[in-house]
Amino acid sequence: MDIAVAAAGIGPGDEVVMPAFTIISPAASVVRAGATPVLVDSSLDTWNMDVAQIESRITPATKAILVVHIYGLPVDMTKVLEIASRHNLIVIEDAAEMHGQFVHDRPCGSFGLISTFSFYPNKHITCGEGGMVVTDDETIAEKCRGYRNLCFQPQRRFVHEELGWNYRMTNMQAAVGLAQLEKLDAHVLRKHQIGERYLERLSRTPGLVLPPVEAEHAKSIFWVFGVLVKDDCSLSPADIMTRLAEQKIGTRPFFFPMHQQPVFKKQGLFQSETYPVAEKLAERGLYIPSGLGLSDEEIDLVAEAVHDIMVSV
Ligand SMILES: *Cc1c(COP(=O)(O)O)cnc(C)c1O
Repeated sequence: MDIAVAAAGIGPGDEVVMPAFTIISPAASVVRAGATPVLVDSSLDTWNMDVAQIESRITPATKAILVVHIYGLPVDMTKVLEIASRHNLIVIEDAAEMHGQFVHDRPCGSFGLISTFSFYPNKHITCGEGGMVVTDDETIAEKCRGYRNLCFQPQRRFVHEELGWNYRMTNMQAAVGLAQLEKLDAHVLRKHQIGERYLERLSRTPGLVLPPVEAEHAKSIFWVFGVLVKDDCSLSPADIMTRLAEQKIGTRPFFFPMHQQPVFKKQGLFQSETYPVAEKLAERGLYIPSGLGLSDEEIDLVAEAVHDIMVSV
């Protein structure tokens, strides 16, 4: 994401429209580049950035729309591309959770001028660590190669016109990645099975909002299986997570919104801004195990444990 933001030429004075509800990575890259993230609230229907609110956040300083696909459903990119072209904005796409996902029949990671993938272990395919930047613009690709490799120059290697990073991927990781790629379809299929199984097993569980499964533009890829605990439930998400932990069932909280991040508050960003849907997702959400190593029996065990906790109150 650092490379994508740099290669897009985003810097001081630029605004980047992006979701309030996301992992910190894209916002961190924008802030480190000296630019300003401008946040958009989420949609309860998809848990993604509410595309209908993007235009109200565009100003003369806006340089890019940074899209982050969250958890299962992708952002409706047809609409985003239309807005971007109308306002002459760059699109950067964080497809870290979307290997193998599509919007209509076009793959995620193909929509941005620059799109990024993560190969962290909990993604659909992994290299242990690392990631990938993709673009079909040859000039941007050259810039990305430079930023990845300290901006060494082919002719005068140790003379630098710009500052880059050492974000080189090792050959060993790349080899793992290629082997993983062969398994992508199988992993996507298994994630679907896990998601569908949870949906079925939890369909009669009170107090829960199950994740959005389908939109007009896509079906969920179930990167994680997140649920919302209803407001009127007497157990908080933290209580439920504690009770599951007592049964040795791991959970994770949802992302914490960018406008509430202490690190950004300390920098004077997002003062007194509120994004009610993003806040609600963060406050009420948790995700239950959905790793590729889970057996059907384990999924049933987790679903039963969740169900028993919810009916006990
Ligand atoms: C996992 C993730 C990242 C971070 O990827 P790393 O490889 O850990 O840097 C960035 N964006 C999104 C949306 C993610 O889910």
